[in-house]
Amino acid sequence: MNLAAVFLDRDGTIIEDTHYPKNPDEVALIPSAIEGLKLMREKGYLLFVISNQSGVGRGLIQDHEFKKVHEKVCAILKDSKIEIDGFAFCFHRPEDLCSCRKPKIGLIPKTFNNQIVSWQHSFTVGDKLSDLELADNIGAKGCLVLSGKGRETLAELTNASRQNEYPHFSNLLSVAKSLPLHS
Ligand SMILES: [Mg+2]
Ligand SMILES: [Zn+2]
Repeated sequence: MNLAAVFLDRDGTIIEDTHYPKNPDEVALIPSAIEGLKLMREKGYLLFVISNQSGVGRGLIQDHEFKKVHEKVCAILKDSKIEIDGFAFCFHRPEDLCSCRKPKIGLIPKTFNNQIVSWQHSFTVGDKLSDLELADNIGAKGCLVLSGKGRETLAELTNASRQNEYPHFSNLLSVAKSLPLHS
């Protein structure tokens, strides 16, 4: 059996979106994020955090600030006994036309410990359209969370009559409850 993963957005999905986060003291978990991540793990999924951080490329977040925020996130998750299988970040600006800024797929692992990660059995979760279109680009299923910018994204999708393309959930725990068991 191939591995399956949940590719998680960070800001607005796991932690509150503070708009170009640079202060580790402002890092705060979104309610039920930990329970959601735990349940995803129990259901047999690898967990990868895939995050666009163009604030770094724009010079709005300094490298050391990014690092401090990341360390804080890792510390919080570790305290909560959540193991993340990988973190990957894009620091580019949209105009850099890189191949890793979501919804591009450059940050998505094809294998883990030499085993294939089946994208088809995987999910992306996030609060922005780029998180959902990432799923389309790898043949996974995109799940919208209504935390962070999620309500605005749902309104955007509704205006474009696309609200049925992606299921939406109040938070990571409700996403986790909806996932099939992967074994
Ligand atoms: Mg986000
Ligand atoms: Zn990039």
